[in-house]
Amino acid sequence: MTAKVEAVLAATPIDDIHTHLYDPAFGDLLLWGIDDLLVYHYLVAEAFRYLDLPYEKFWVLSKAQQAELIWNALFIQNSPVSEACRGVITTLHALGLDVRKRDLPALRQWFTKWKAEEYVTRCLELAGVRTVCMTNSPFDDLERPVWEKGFSRDERFRAALRIDPLLLTWGDAAQCLARWGYDVGPNLTDKTISEVRRFLADWGQRIGARYLMVSFGPEFDFPSDGSCARLLEKVVLPHCREFGLPMALMMGVKRQVNSQLRQAGDGVGLSGLGALERLCAQFPENRFLVTVLARENQYELCVLARKFRNLHVFGCWWFNNVPSLVGEITRLRLELIGLSVTPQHSDARVLDQLIYKWRHSRQIIAQVLADKYADLAGTGWVVSEAEMKRDAESLLGGAFGKFCQPPGSSSAEKLRRL
Ligand SMILES: [Zn+2]
Repeated sequence: MTAKVEAVLAATPIDDIHTHLYDPAFGDLLLWGIDDLLVYHYLVAEAFRYLDLPYEKFWVLSKAQQAELIWNALFIQNSPVSEACRGVITTLHALGLDVRKRDLPALRQWFTKWKAEEYVTRCLELAGVRTVCMTNSPFDDLERPVWEKGFSRDERFRAALRIDPLLLTWGDAAQCLARWGYDVGPNLTDKTISEVRRFLADWGQRIGARYLMVSFGPEFDFPSDGSCARLLEKVVLPHCREFGLPMALMMGVKRQVNSQLRQAGDGVGLSGLGALERLCAQFPENRFLVTVLARENQYELCVLARKFRNLHVFGCWWFNNVPSLVGEITRLRLELIGLSVTPQHSDARVLDQLIYKWRHSRQIIAQVLADKYADLAGTGWVVSEAEMKRDAESLLGGAFGKFCQPPGSSSAEKLRRL
């Protein structure tokens, strides 16, 4: 049964709903190749478990020097058993490289023959991925000018509008908006609210956003007197309703627990999902895509999804993306909310990572699904191959796509309006 389900999943193209990859038109912002694989922040954090040089000495090194330190610490002096290390090996192996030699210069040499555009196609092919959703921030000084100038889009790369600064550091964001020609002040007056909505409308349309997104720390609460909750209620959610877009909330990241680690310095905290419960209940016309970072929040999130159909659960995010937890969380979700879930997104920051992140996850999803089919088969309910394909499509992007359709486009909504 497992082999059969694995084959069906392997043949089903994936829509990867959240990554940090970029359309090749963004040039150097699209990361790929062995050095970028090695300096991935997951590996930086792990390497510092073994390195004894001061943090600041690491950060002044070139990318190649950092990659060499990490390679030595995590692959040569120790066996690469962690999930992030194993991922590099899975990726190189899938690309046809001989990983047994442990020869970094030879690996680097192999990557020099590739051009980004062709390598994108190769990686998507090996990962079984059809489309990837980027994370696009108008507040990013490297990214913003590319959008402003305009470019011809690679249709495999979809866009999502990330608005963390707007909700989390409103004072600074307001100054940015003012600089960019929006008539906003620090207080949320009617004028400011309508100008921030104009900003969201402009950027949503410019990038063709499929959804808006923000990551929240464990302290996020709703309702609340703070600017974050008020902006969410008065600006972001009305914008989402007007344009028929879902809002993605990634909950539970504790920012800069160790700032010396920079991008690798974030930790995890338990979120109060009462805030999410109130959002789902108070705004039934809004749709929320939600993933949580704390393992201890996963069960409560599933229970909430049973109560609110405007909540779609997705992904095993960051520290959850290890085989033992992906297995546990995927099983829990299928048992509590069936197939109306998107079990995984890659969160890839480096193009090549699509290969391992999806190979590893797909295998586990297949195992869980096969177990469920086997339980059903015990009663005589045999799932046909066509039904398996339907289910696989649902899990690998189909359920997400349906959830994201603007209200009014589904047949149920049309019926309701008759
Ligand atoms: Zn991410």
